[in-house]
Order: sequence, then structure tokens, then C-alpha cells
Amino acid sequence: MATIGQALTAATSRLQGAGSPSPRLDAELLLGHVVGLDRAAVVAHPEVVLGADHAARFDAFVERRAGGEPVAYIREVKEFYGVALGIDARALIPRPETELLVELAIARTRSALGARPRPAGAPPFRILDLGTGSGAIAIAMARALRRARYGDAVRFTATDISEAALALAVENAVAQGVADMIDFRVADLLSSAVQVDGSPDLIAANLPYVASTVIDELGPAIAFEPRIALDGGPDGLDVIRRCLDELPTVLAVDGCALLEIGADQVADLSAAVAASLPGWTQAVHRDLAGRPRVLELDRASAAGGAGSVERPDPGRS
Ligand code: GLN
Repeated sequence: MATIGQALTAATSRLQGAGSPSPRLDAELLLGHVVGLDRAAVVAHPEVVLGADHAARFDAFVERRAGGEPVAYIREVKEFYGVALGIDARALIPRPETELLVELAIARTRSALGARPRPAGAPPFRILDLGTGSGAIAIAMARALRRARYGDAVRFTATDISEAALALAVENAVAQGVADMIDFRVADLLSSAVQVDGSPDLIAANLPYVASTVIDELGPAIAFEPRIALDGGPDGLDVIRRCLDELPTVLAVDGCALLEIGADQVADLSAAVAASLPGWTQAVHRDLAGRPRVLELDRASAAGGAGSVERPDPGRS
């Protein structure tokens, strides 16, 4: 019978041989999942002998990972902005970069709500998570805003073109106790989503933005994720450009859109924004790696002239 320490060593070398970029971490996460403990507890007890059932399940998980399947799909959970989201092949695995988008969107919401006192009966501040996938953005925001006592002042719409993804998002919202704050709609970008719920004050969207030809170069794990969540056409910007074209008819008059983007897309997007949204202000926010990651589009400035600014990193709390 193998101990935890021996099982981890064997699995790490198996996963290293299979080309995983993080073999030891993968092994620890998968073993923790099998025995029902977190990673730290597993690492702290290398001498414990694994039962036969656990050993067999662990081997099966390691083989799935060796075949390229992402750890998040095997564990069926991914931590995002402090939330353990249920994850499976119905939706993209939330990426840590997207936490920047959530942080900016929360800050924006709080400052909008703080700026104008809300009389009783005032309509809620409407937030639209466009292409919600697993629900990560809307759910992380809803939890944080409710904790900060803004729960009654905001209302979310979360949309996806994929019914399967939206079903996962609903499951996650229920599990996280925020389903009452979010309206879920199957929708292709902006048009039909807002006819029902009214103009959003804030749009936070992680739309597909990877160039079609680049997707297959991103490693074997990416093939397990829904292509529709990643594929942005020849230059990656097909969906975002379509979103830009729809923004003027949909976003509230003083509204703001925060769009996750690829680091190499700033110049192309600037040009697209200038063409589709004359007079709107655009700003680029960088992620923790220092790479351009979120494009902020403000409509309120449209009356007062165009502008383009690079905002400093907002920092993290
Ligand atoms: N950041 C993701 C990746 O590179 C892409 C997410 C997206 O297309 N929205 O895998």
C-alpha cells in the first residue's frame, strides 16, 4: 500500500512525463479531492497510507490529467474571487486574470451607488454579465456587493448564448446563495437581453477573444473547454466588435462597459472603439502580470469629447 507521499511522488513524475506545466500542484489538488481534504492537509501528512479505493480513484484522476484534461474539470470546482464555483465542460474555467474585471466592476458599482443617494423605491443599479459561462463574474460580484450591504441596490442580468452554460451558472448562483439577485437569460450579446431587463448601468463581460488559429496552440487542456467561449474569429475580435456596435443602443446614458481583452489587442480595439463609439472614453487596465487585460468604455463622456487614458493598476486588497 502506498503512502500519500509515495503516491504524490509517483503521480508528479507521471504528470511531468505527460507534459503538465504544474505536475506537483496537480497531484496535490487531485489527491486532496480524492480524500476530501484540502491541499495543505494532504501535504502535511505524507506518511498516511492510502486505502485501496482512494488509490484507485487517484490513479484514474491522474490518468485523466495525463490525457490533458484540466484539473478544474476533474475536481469539478474552481476557486474564483474567493468563491468555489462548480465547474464542468459546459463552461470555460474561470481564469485568475478575470478577477481584475470583477474588482473593477465592484469598485465602479460602489462608487456609482455611493455618489448618488438612493431614495426609497429607486430602481436598482443594473449590472449585466454578458457571456456569463459558469456565472463567475455575476456571482462573485453579487456575493461581494451583498456582503458590503449593496445587495438591495443592485440587480444582475447574466446571459449566455449557451443554454448549457447558463444552466451551470444557475446551479452556481443557487449554491452560492445569490440566485435571488440575478436574472438569467439565454441571449446572443446585447439585443434581446436588455429588452426584458432595461438598460444596464454597467456591463462586465469576458467574451471570447482568442484568435481561431491561436486556440490550438494554447496546449492540450484548452481542447476540453467549449470553443465557443474562446473563439473570437480570425483576429479574436469578432464578438467584441459586434458588442461595441450594439453598446450605444443598449447601455444606460451614464453607463460603463468593462470588457476583458487579449494583451495584444489594445491598438486594434482602440481603432474599433473610435469608429463604433465616437466620443466615448476608453481606458486600459493591466492585470497583475502587467499585461493589458480590461478595456473600460465610458459613455458619459460622449457629450464632452473623446479621450483615451491608461489607468494605473488599481491594486488589490
Ligand atoms: N484568457 C483566456 C485564455 O487565454 C481567454 C478567455 C476568453 O477568450 N475570454 O485562455
